[in-house]
Amino acid sequence: MRLHYSILIFLLLAIGACKPSEKPAQPMTEKENLKGKYAIAIHGGAGNLKKLKLTPEQESEYLAALELALAAGQNILVAGGKCEDAVEAAIRTMEDSPLFNAGKGAVFNHDGINEMDAAIMTGKDLQCGAIAGVRHIRNPISAAKMVMEKSEHVLLTSAGAEEFASAHGIEMVDSSYFFTQLRWDQLQEALKEDSIELDHDGKSGKSSKLSTNDFNELKFGTVGCVALDQYGNLAAGTSTGGLTNKRYGRIGDTPLIGSGTYANNKSCAVSCTGKGEDFIRNNIAYDIAAQLEYSKIPLDSAVYHSIQEKLVKSKGRGGCIAIDGQGNICMNFTTTGMYRGYIDTNGQKKVLIYAE
Ligand code: ASP
Repeated sequence: MRLHYSILIFLLLAIGACKPSEKPAQPMTEKENLKGKYAIAIHGGAGNLKKLKLTPEQESEYLAALELALAAGQNILVAGGKCEDAVEAAIRTMEDSPLFNAGKGAVFNHDGINEMDAAIMTGKDLQCGAIAGVRHIRNPISAAKMVMEKSEHVLLTSAGAEEFASAHGIEMVDSSYFFTQLRWDQLQEALKEDSIELDHDGKSGKSSKLSTNDFNELKFGTVGCVALDQYGNLAAGTSTGGLTNKRYGRIGDTPLIGSGTYANNKSCAVSCTGKGEDFIRNNIAYDIAAQLEYSKIPLDSAVYHSIQEKLVKSKGRGGCIAIDGQGNICMNFTTTGMYRGYIDTNGQKKVLIYAE
C-alpha cells in the first residue's frame, strides 16, 4: 500500500513538471535577433572623373572623405545599430564636406541659390521620408529621416519642409553657409555657356539646355549610402544639391522614392547618381529592386540591366550603389568614374574613384 502511495506521489510530481509553463514565451529581444553580419556602401557621385584630372592630393582628399563616411556608418552597424542610422551618419559626413554636391558643397541653381533634395527609406517596412528644394537645412538627410519618423507624409518641399524641420529641432543655417568658391565658379561657367548657346539658339536651333547639360555631365556629385544591419534590415539614402544652373524649382530623382532612392528587405536597397531626369523616367532604383523581387535574379544582373541597358538606351548617364539581404554589394556606372566605397560582410574595405 505504501508503495502505491509513493508511485502516486511520483506520478503527480511528474505531471506537474510536464505542465506547460504559465508564463507566456518571451519574444526575442532585438539584440537576440542579431544575425552578426553587416555591410555598407557609399557613393559621392559619378561623372567623367578622368576628364576632371584630379591631382594626387585631390584624389587623396576624396578617398579620405569616403573613408570617413564609411567609418561613420560602420561604427553604428558594428555596435548593433540600425541601418537607417548608419545611412544617415555616413551621408552627414559627406554633406559636411565641401567636396561633394550635397549639404556644404551643394551646387548653385540659376539664381545663385543652393537648393537641396534628400531621401531615406527603410526596407523592413517601406517607411520613407524626403525633402526637396530646401535652402537652410545643414544636413538634408536628417530632415528627410525626420519626415520618415515624425510625419505621416513622405515628401515635403521648400518652405514647408524647412518649417517642419525647424519645428523638429533640425539644425538650420544661413544660406551663406553653403557658399563655396568652386561651386560659384561652376555656376558662372554654366551661365556663360548658357548665354553662348542662347546666342546660337536662333542660328543653330540648339536649346540652351544642351550646354548646361554638357557642363554637368562632367560630374554628378550627389552622395548616397546603402546598408545591411545585423538584424537583416536594409536602408538607402541619397542627398544632393541637384544640377548646377537648374531653374524653375527643378527637383531631381534623389528625393523621389523609386527613382533615385529605394529600399525593400524583399529585394535590395539602392541609391543613384546622375542626371536625375533619366532616372525618374526609368524609375531606376525601383526597377532594380523589382527585378530581384519578381525574377529572383542576382543583384549584379539586375543593376546591369537597369543601368547599362535601360538607362543607356534612354541616353541617361550616371550610376548607382545597391545591396541585397545577403550583403552582396554592386556599384555600377556609365561614366569614367564614381566616388565610392564599401565594407563587405567579411569586413573588407575599399574606396575607389575610377572605373577598374
Ligand atoms: N541625381 C542628381 C539630380 O539629378 C544629381 C547628381 O546625381 O549629382 O538632382
